[in-house]
Amino acid sequence: MKPHFSQLSEHLYVHHGHVNTGILCDRDHALLIDPSGTTFQTTLAELGITNAERMLFTHHHRDNAPGFPIAENVHVGVPAKEAPWFAEVETFWNDPQYRWHLYNYHPHNLMLADAIRVADTYTEGAQITWGSAVLTVLETPGHTDGSVTYLIDVDGKRFAFTGDLIYDEGKLWELYSLQKGQQTSDYHGFLGARDELKESLEKVRQASPTALIPTHGVVMNDPDKAIDTLLDRLAYCYDKYVSISALRHYFPQLFAEFEGHPGHMPIREGKPPPEFLRHFGTTWIIISENDEAFVMDCGSPNIIKQIQQLQADGEVSEVTQFWVTHYHDDHVNAIPEFQETFPCETIADSVVAAVITNPIGFRLPCISPSVTRVDRITQDGDSWQWNEFTMTAYYFPGQTYYHGGLLVEGYGIRMFFAGDSFTMAGIDDYCSGNRNLLGADVGYEKCLRLIQELKPTHIFNCHVDSAFDFTDDEIACMLDTLAEREKCYTALFPWDHANYGMDEHWVRCYPYEQEVAPGGTAQLRVEVTNHSYEPRTATAQPILPASWGMETAPSETTLPPRTTGGFDFSIPIPVGVFLLGYFPRLPNSCTASGRVVIPVDITYNGRPLGQFREAIFVLTGG
Ligand SMILES: [Zn+2]
Ligand SMILES: [Zn+2]
Repeated sequence: MKPHFSQLSEHLYVHHGHVNTGILCDRDHALLIDPSGTTFQTTLAELGITNAERMLFTHHHRDNAPGFPIAENVHVGVPAKEAPWFAEVETFWNDPQYRWHLYNYHPHNLMLADAIRVADTYTEGAQITWGSAVLTVLETPGHTDGSVTYLIDVDGKRFAFTGDLIYDEGKLWELYSLQKGQQTSDYHGFLGARDELKESLEKVRQASPTALIPTHGVVMNDPDKAIDTLLDRLAYCYDKYVSISALRHYFPQLFAEFEGHPGHMPIREGKPPPEFLRHFGTTWIIISENDEAFVMDCGSPNIIKQIQQLQADGEVSEVTQFWVTHYHDDHVNAIPEFQETFPCETIADSVVAAVITNPIGFRLPCISPSVTRVDRITQDGDSWQWNEFTMTAYYFPGQTYYHGGLLVEGYGIRMFFAGDSFTMAGIDDYCSGNRNLLGADVGYEKCLRLIQELKPTHIFNCHVDSAFDFTDDEIACMLDTLAEREKCYTALFPWDHANYGMDEHWVRCYPYEQEVAPGGTAQLRVEVTNHSYEPRTATAQPILPASWGMETAPSETTLPPRTTGGFDFSIPIPVGVFLLGYFPRLPNSCTASGRVVIPVDITYNGRPLGQFREAIFVLTGG
């Protein structure tokens, strides 16, 4: 079994809990780096430390912060660029820009539930003398925008506490924190922080430490080899991403340097759509011979005007059916208005319907607060006749996990409305928050197998005017690339499957947000997807505010291979919390309601992950 701590030099220790906590000793006093959870207390006791008087944090993530109140006399130091994400977290939790229409991931997720009182903030080159040691701060962004590395010169050696820049030789803890745009929005920036990460790793290398100590991960005694292997793997993984990326159609200039790389799928021209189709914004409209309209998606009020114009021009008599491809705001924002204007049947796949009928239950990229009424929920393969066309609905986890596809057959052609899932250049998997799973029968693998089977003559994307199709060779190229990605991304993470490092929502709360009344009971489900090819155990425990005076019991479950399971918690909301007018999390003293962050502590297959995810309770009048 792994020891609880290891000694790096006479005065420097590392406690190995769910993260590594650095312990720099000066007799019975200590300076801690990334103290998180409570298990490090036993190590402090064993080392005879009675006064852990300074705490330094490499970055603002909740899973490397204590998760308990820090005593008044403890001196806390954080990266200057992230100080607000320690001291003023209420801004994040209460500002709708961090809740809806999420295209910006500065900052990303894992914000602290409770603010921490900060004494010192550090910028590049800051030095801290502690006992016989000197600490030097290096700004090393990448995993987060303001992450720092603490170099510690002590006992004649130099150690680097690198945060989550690197996990182990050639490995990263996860890559969704690297979802950052350079010339585009963060939403389009898959692995977009890789250059920043590379520069930061090079800066650490230049400092010539004898060992790297990551927040998550393993102490690395050969920094050069650890960094080189990671940079090689990242470059390879990124090349495998670009090779079949749909973004090459939208932003060719971003990928100019990759042109002609071996294995990159060539991009063919599209073809004109049939005459009975219209395309406005992200909406496709089918007009039948009796002038009825079948409409797909409604992202803006302008679409409603365009349809009314078609009616005025005598091209369309009425809208009789409406299909929603997926939950993204540019496809659903104006649906409530559309439904009022055109009282027709609304149809969506069951996975899509779950989000658009109750968006408050989810926190996902590009999510809209607009609530859609769904009249008919389809399952994979449901078929119906609409005028002279045969429609068949599919679950189609392409651009997002929450996505449908529609096959429309008529006039001897087979049209597949793929939502935002393909362009002529390949697949739309540029945002890791969209949950593009790798593996057989999930994600784009499932979508491509369906396209292979259905052989549509025309594929339509909501953002592309032309129709297109894929040859057997192109489909084979995309499937081969996905299979290769499953391997090369798995090698990049300390997990037995790539999806743990890529699927930000493999553990999630449902509902993400809910209104609760004091004296009532909140129902909270914590869902876990086992991406492994073997059974896995998981434990979950929602962490309630201390002042509520109660705790939830941790709950454990076993998940069969490649399945999703979960835990259902019934959480009574105390009356007193409301009467006191005091909200220990996110005090909002001027109003009678407040948002309370409920972090959820997760252990997966014996590995503690700390406060890995969260739910939001919105306290109402009761
Ligand atoms: Zn982190
Ligand atoms: Zn979309």
